[in-house]
Amino acid sequence: MSTAEPAGPIHVQGPVSIARQHGEACFHCGAVAKTLYADGSITLPGSDRVWPVVTCGCRRQAAVPARPVPSTKGLSEDQLRGTACVWCDKPVTTETAVDLGARPYRRLDVRSSWFPRACEPCAENGGPA
Ligand SMILES: [Zn+2]
Ligand SMILES: [Zn+2]
Repeated sequence: MSTAEPAGPIHVQGPVSIARQHGEACFHCGAVAKTLYADGSITLPGSDRVWPVVTCGCRRQAAVPARPVPSTKGLSEDQLRGTACVWCDKPVTTETAVDLGARPYRRLDVRSSWFPRACEPCAENGGPA
């Protein structure tokens, strides 16, 4: 009865693609090209069999970063455009980037917003890996 034990399998009602069921694709979005991490397990209707599933981390993308996103001062154009990690300045692509959510941004007295993005290692750590 330890609270440190992982959550039990999730009982999935709807159909699950074979790739997701077998842990070959992100359980939430079906991504296969990304780095996939173990993310608990599922059971399907009519069977007691437990299937370990994986996630690409997409469920965590909306999470508030553990550390605040750096101020826009001192960031490169690429970082402001979201084509480089805000922490380590490594180039990121739509495939690899983790969105950190829109932030208000003031430039030359114009209010707008920017969309900071991070590489996966930095996003995992909430800061430079
Ligand atoms: Zn995913
Ligand atoms: Zn980074």
